[in-house]
Amino acid sequence: MIDEFRKLFPDLTPRFFRAPGRVNLIGEHTDYNMGFVMPIALDMNCYVAVAGSNDRKTHIHSLDRGEGFDFDPDVAFAKPRKNWTDYVIGVAQQLSMRGVRILPMSMVFHSEVPEGSGLSSSAALEVSAALAFLNGRTYSGVEMAKLCQRAEIDFVGNPCGIMDQYISVFGEANRALELDCRSLSHKPVELPANAALLAVNSMVKHDLATSAYGDRVKECKAAVAGIARLHPEVKALRDAKLEYLENARLDPTVEKRARHIITEDDRVEQFFAAARRGDLDQMGKLFVASHRSMQHDYEISCEEIDFLVDTALTIDGVYGSRMTGGGFGGCTINLVRPDRVDAFTKEIVDRYQARYNKQAPVFNCVPSSGAREVKDLSTIPATNKTSS
Ligand code: ADP
Ligand code: MG
Repeated sequence: MIDEFRKLFPDLTPRFFRAPGRVNLIGEHTDYNMGFVMPIALDMNCYVAVAGSNDRKTHIHSLDRGEGFDFDPDVAFAKPRKNWTDYVIGVAQQLSMRGVRILPMSMVFHSEVPEGSGLSSSAALEVSAALAFLNGRTYSGVEMAKLCQRAEIDFVGNPCGIMDQYISVFGEANRALELDCRSLSHKPVELPANAALLAVNSMVKHDLATSAYGDRVKECKAAVAGIARLHPEVKALRDAKLEYLENARLDPTVEKRARHIITEDDRVEQFFAAARRGDLDQMGKLFVASHRSMQHDYEISCEEIDFLVDTALTIDGVYGSRMTGGGFGGCTINLVRPDRVDAFTKEIVDRYQARYNKQAPVFNCVPSSGAREVKDLSTIPATNKTSS
């Protein structure tokens, strides 16, 4: 990235910023129901080298795409181009709408977060872009997360929740954050040192994902409307209790969706408590309960993911396994005894290969710190995080 920056902008001296990808441990689809999620930031980052510009244009370049784009820093009327530059320009536009002056700049991005694997390469790109445009100017972290989310919704056109951007900004080393998606505040919890978190990428993403997401949002709204007839204080499923479902006379599908959200919020709380006690057995059980709820009540799993979960649960040293992310593919997250990491990795990869003839990358997920300036370049690890 540094070489590329020197090549493209030989007479400029850059500053460096980074923003991490994430994996969600528990709390799936609870964000848009104003509930709880528990992500960790990963030690995989999107890096950006940034300096001023020698002309009036802003120059952005993705090393990973081998592609650059120049634009006028007056982004008020910028139009989406339907490619990766929208994440960056969308962020500039949101900053500018909030009164941050967007100056002509030169940027080179390089990300370690694999794209489209459910580890949120998009939020890592957005938050690193926000830091680059701010270029050292201080800004509220919550506002930064919100404006990056807004850029993705309005400019990219992806109606996402706040989790990805929030954890990219606020992530902490060795800790998961329990994020309250209504108040936008969080509680950190230290994760037991004697367990590893391994993400296994199914390498599938079924087309259903986008339309099903919209359907689930609608079904949750229908559930709230039905429950609120008897319990007017319920403004979102986060406010509902399981027993409210008994008399709500919801459509059976809507009732299942509501049951997932209500029980999942409760599992996030329980997981937080179990992590605090270092109770790995209970954390693992909650992983599995969460997966079954997504599989049967929310119906957002798929054959390949169920295979990965069910296979993981037969492997020695696995406390629990569940799908993570929006659904219909992506990754599972597995809680594994540290001395069993290599054996687990080999076995899950071999058995997935034998069943689906696909190589499943496995990532060791180390809870890491959130977005910031990189002052000491020697701290940037030159390793490839994919272990298979
Ligand atoms: P995820 O966030 O799960 O990785 P998304 O579809 O939300 O998947 O975001 C992926 C998109 O983010 C890519 O299609 C691309 O437009 C953009 N992106 C991510 N990383 C990079 C990168 N290093 N260079 C250019 N664009 C990137
Ligand atoms: Mg994304």
